[in-house]
Amino acid sequence: MQREVTMRNRHAGEPFTTSDDDIAAALLDVSIPTLMLSLVHITGDPELIRGRLKPAGLFLNEVQGYMSEDDKAEVRALALDIIRDYRDRGCPEPAPIAPQLLHEMMSWLVVEDVPDEYVPMLMEEMELDGADARQVAAPADIAAREAFPVVVIGCGQSGLLAGIRLQEAGIPFTIVEKNSGVGGTWWENSYPGARVDVGNHFYCYSFEPSDHWTEFFAQQPELQAYFQGVMEKYGIDKHIRWETEVISTRWDDASSTWKVQARAADGSVETLTARAVISAVGQLNRPNIPEIAGQETFAGPSFHSARWDHDLDLAGKRVAMIGAGASGFQIAPAIAGEVQQLTVFQRTAQWMFPNPNYHAAVGPGVRWALRHLPFYGRWYRFLIFWPGCDKGLQAARVDPDYPDQQRAVSETNELTRQMFTDWITSQVGDDPELIAKVVPDYPATGKRTLQDNGSWLRTLTRDNVELVRTGIDHIEPDAIVTVDGERYECDVIVYATGFHANRVLWPMEITGRDGTDLRTLWGERPAAYLGITIPGFPNFFCMYGPGTNLAHGGSLIFHSECQMRYISQCLDALIDGGHRSMEPRQDKYEEWHARSQAEIRKLVWSQPSVKHSFFKNAYGEIHVLSPWRIVDYWTWTKTPEPTDFVFS
Ligand code: NAP
Repeated sequence: MQREVTMRNRHAGEPFTTSDDDIAAALLDVSIPTLMLSLVHITGDPELIRGRLKPAGLFLNEVQGYMSEDDKAEVRALALDIIRDYRDRGCPEPAPIAPQLLHEMMSWLVVEDVPDEYVPMLMEEMELDGADARQVAAPADIAAREAFPVVVIGCGQSGLLAGIRLQEAGIPFTIVEKNSGVGGTWWENSYPGARVDVGNHFYCYSFEPSDHWTEFFAQQPELQAYFQGVMEKYGIDKHIRWETEVISTRWDDASSTWKVQARAADGSVETLTARAVISAVGQLNRPNIPEIAGQETFAGPSFHSARWDHDLDLAGKRVAMIGAGASGFQIAPAIAGEVQQLTVFQRTAQWMFPNPNYHAAVGPGVRWALRHLPFYGRWYRFLIFWPGCDKGLQAARVDPDYPDQQRAVSETNELTRQMFTDWITSQVGDDPELIAKVVPDYPATGKRTLQDNGSWLRTLTRDNVELVRTGIDHIEPDAIVTVDGERYECDVIVYATGFHANRVLWPMEITGRDGTDLRTLWGERPAAYLGITIPGFPNFFCMYGPGTNLAHGGSLIFHSECQMRYISQCLDALIDGGHRSMEPRQDKYEEWHARSQAEIRKLVWSQPSVKHSFFKNAYGEIHVLSPWRIVDYWTWTKTPEPTDFVFS
């Protein structure tokens, strides 16, 4: 006789026998509003969230909903009783909750009505039913898939995801990775202080548990280890060619294949044949070192932030750091205590967003809750996601009638400016000279806003740190000289000067149908339909392609999951339809690009008041960022529309 085995919902939490005291201790640590939703799952009682005890407001990374200490204590006492009883009953899997109540719980947690149009996306993202809706269905025709090899370029977060999904689909694949390890940006950027600035309980794959992070914004080694662990868990490593760089790929119409030239570490070049290519190369991995007169004469070590020289001991050294965007902002606080002198050359001041938890450790109580309390982790994920889900886009919209566009682009933007300015000045105290240097002169959020817990400004007020806002004129063997003739002596130069973000897919040579060279086609204006496909480049798919970088919220991992689901379905359409190739219709591509351009011009990042920004190309236009709401991108990429494509 066969017995039906039902699997416990993987988000229902691992059963536990934790003692009363240990539960009570854990509850001191957790997000109380999130805990209350877990209690609703455990008890099935919606009245728990319909009374007096509730969050009072929402702010990114404020996970206690501004509840009073008394109210939190009351919830903890109630929770202890409920959780103790749940434990004593053997932690049975909670019954599913009706969709209407789930929607009520969403709105309750974030203290505002979550519009209906967001609910399907959020339900999918939270996976409260335990199912990974973005998983690829098991293949119907295995033989057809086996005859459809795919090459993935890059093994950062998106390339690894591509590998996982291709494996699920039964499609043979090779991932070509120029580095010797997995993680992409989290492999390359090992500079001191490197950490993510999107909360980790959201910045991770939706289908992987996230109960292990030791910090809310993990540092680079932990992030790299995460991707390593996922790679090993899914057995993707055996498909990867390490230290091998794709130098070119050319479409061969006769065989409907891509000929991918890959150069190994020993210099040998091999040609791989693929029915489809997925580019997962990222936008931020080709270091930009600006040309500065005399830089080759510098006598000491100099290197880019993404090429950190870990053999070099900075103790007692005079270090000059040129550039202070997202990377420099993290490096300075991490090295200031070690070096003799740190001189930071910053061309443009940065806006920063207050985030007291930026360097905070995840306490053992939170980790216990993530692991054991039903759906706690999924609601926590939503709580981190929601404040950055499209609100930033509304706030980025330019009001053309707003009077002083150099200062702010709208009333909302002015309020943001005031909040950020208050945050900065409250830390600097009465040092007008420093305030003048650190308060930006362009609209708030006009560049990528940085997360800040005060460490940057604290660093700048140290005796051994100087912030220089005067332009650099030239470099001498032992000094950097600014345009006012001031000499700043240094032993080491760190270039925290960013990446060639606008040179999308550079320096690969990509040749499509009829010998069309992608770089020539694009010039300064890279584009892809939905950021994924390009006419004339059949069976070529981009992840994190043009127009998909995010400045307004969300997470690139979320975007990658949208893109890979779309690409998987395109591959299905190709294979199941017996087609040789697919590419987007020219009119669809042009319409998309024109619409995206029209939209991005209405947003703060495009404004002329933002003079220097890696989002902008040589003409001051933006082609790398998404101007779209997260919910729209999710909707548009949910299922490819066959009529958008030309199949052959
Ligand atoms: P970045 O934000 O582009 O900053 C580069 C810095 O170098 C800026 O201060 C820039 O000045 C300066 N610079 C560039 N060219 C210059 C020139 N010719 N002369 C003088 N100064 C020059 O680069 P990044 O700091 O490496 O960060 C890039 C992106 O990586 C971020 O926006 C983010 O998307 C990602 N990132 C994320 C994290 C994180 O998650 N925590 C950390 C690091 C990086 P201007 O501002 O005047 O252009």
